[in-house]
Amino acid sequence: QIPTIYFVTPTYPRREQIAELTRLGQTLMHVQNLFWIVADDSDICNKRLDKLLDNFGIPYILLSSPMPSIYRSQKTIPRGVSNRRAALAWIKYNNIKEGVLYFGDDDNTFDLRLFSEIRYTQRVSMFPVGLIGDYSISSPIVENGKVVAFFDSWPAKRKFPVDMAGFAVNLNYMAKFPNSTMPFKAGYEEDAFLKSIELKINEIEPKAKDCTEVYVWHTQTTKTKAPMIKISNDVLSGSKT
Ligand code: UDP
Ligand code: MN
Repeated sequence: QIPTIYFVTPTYPRREQIAELTRLGQTLMHVQNLFWIVADDSDICNKRLDKLLDNFGIPYILLSSPMPSIYRSQKTIPRGVSNRRAALAWIKYNNIKEGVLYFGDDDNTFDLRLFSEIRYTQRVSMFPVGLIGDYSISSPIVENGKVVAFFDSWPAKRKFPVDMAGFAVNLNYMAKFPNSTMPFKAGYEEDAFLKSIELKINEIEPKAKDCTEVYVWHTQTTKTKAPMIKISNDVLSGSKT
């Protein structure tokens, strides 16, 4: 039995939500032994979303994980943090200690080779992410098979200047750190999370041919000013017409 990949996707209600999740779901349909944790930044469990996820045939859970309102009014909003924290809490609550955790945002693009790279992560694996920042790439720098430094256009004094999509974590390893967490601190989520699992630079497992290949891209969908028409769950479930 190959290890399960727990693929954590923060998502939020907006015009593009169904389109993003359709594209992502149809990528994930190609992956063996994957459990999809979709955490929606919403205080309701959206029935339409649940139906969409169900139709992919991928084992999944849909969590409602609204961002606390105090963070929404901040200058830099910690996007997706409430969602990822809910996913981490769900993993802890269910005492899942086997498999590999990966944070895959709903708008990113994934090459299927990524999944075979991360599946056998022992502690924490890392690999390049394309289309990030001014350098267009964020990647560990590897020498003789070891990570020795990081190439990232926004170091910001971080110990681990990496993107959320640039690492995977073994759940048995993560379980050794019951206080592991991701703070509501925009820009520093990855660094703080990796510090909370006491990662050492010399323990990082470089993937994607010693970090010379790109298997994930930080693509972004153009935002529009067009309003999203909200439909209530009652209407979606057919209990009201
Ligand atoms: N997200 C969210 N609530 C928000 C904004 C974003 O849950 O208010 C999610 C979004 O669906 C994505 C992740 O958080 O999976 C990162 O957000 P986004 O892609 O907008 O930011 P980026 O990192 O690309 O700048
Ligand atoms: Mn994004």
